[in-house]
Amino acid sequence: MLPFSRVAIIGMGLIGSSLARAIRAAMPTVHLVVSDASSAVRERVAELGLADDVADGAGAAVVDADLVILCVPVGAMADVAAEIAPELAPDTVVSDVGSVKENVLIVLSAALPGVHVIPAHPVAGTEKSGPDAGFASLFTGRWCIITPPPRADATMVERLSEFWRRLGSKVDVMDAAHHDRVLAVTSHLPHLIAYSIVGTASDLEEVTKSEVIKYSAGGFRDFTRIAASDPVMWRDVFLGNRTAVLELLGRFTEDLVALQRAIRWGDGDALESLFTRTRAIRRSIIDQGQDTDQADFGRAEQHQITPD
Ligand code: NAP
Repeated sequence: MLPFSRVAIIGMGLIGSSLARAIRAAMPTVHLVVSDASSAVRERVAELGLADDVADGAGAAVVDADLVILCVPVGAMADVAAEIAPELAPDTVVSDVGSVKENVLIVLSAALPGVHVIPAHPVAGTEKSGPDAGFASLFTGRWCIITPPPRADATMVERLSEFWRRLGSKVDVMDAAHHDRVLAVTSHLPHLIAYSIVGTASDLEEVTKSEVIKYSAGGFRDFTRIAASDPVMWRDVFLGNRTAVLELLGRFTEDLVALQRAIRWGDGDALESLFTRTRAIRRSIIDQGQDTDQADFGRAEQHQITPD
């Protein structure tokens, strides 16, 4: 039996449209109704035939759904929750895919009292946005982290876990605050560093003209891919996970100063020892199947996986 038979998706960008495609592929009998704030996106989704129905508003989309998944930027969750609240059927599960979890849990629980709010985060994505960027296999073999509130209904948590497993994901359940600390390390700080480095290089470009682009080798080029990620989404991630990101940024800054000192004093041993440790981390990511072992990050492959 299917874990859910009537699913509504609000926000049909990269993640929402990938979800719709993945549901179609894995659970074709699910009745799928979707919506998006943008009329251009709604029209495109209808053209692509990604759902049974494309509703004009979020409220209309969730009527009769047994699972609602919010795929909008983290900063838009409160508005969407307020819009759908009066239309939800009893026992509907409301979940999301936001990259920040504690803030989303607080916002959704406040806006939807008495509703089964069970946030989730599929740790899969690309630097692209919009409904044309989505693809059905985005979640295959990737982790989906489910962050239920302490008194969540265990049956509903299991149904949501089963739903993500059917889409090909591996599922982990953890506390929302813990998720935010882990993702600050694995995703949020790396994005912040990429935004910062590419910003610095673009300032330097004033001096060096097109040389930054012309000679962009592996390192810089990889940072530019991450720094091309959606500006609205990432603005909301940093504002939504402020505490964990700031704490980590403090530690990172200290470590950067230590590296600066090692370079200044010619401490090659310190540099080599750090670079040896970091190479081992790369090895374990490959061993756990979270990236390919191909040189140049498997650039020949069609879809790049970002750390988010
Ligand atoms: P996206 O491609 O920009 O899509 C977001 C869509 O939501 C857009 O079509 C947007 O419309 C729409 N939207 C915004 N506010 C809305 C509202 N109030 N009501 C209805 N629709 C609204 O972004 P995405 O990459 O799919 O990200 C969506 C969520 O997934 C975010 O919470 C993000 O943190 C999470 N996530 C992203 C990744 C990733 O790698 N991209 C990975 C995992 C999780 P407009 O364009 O008109 O604003």
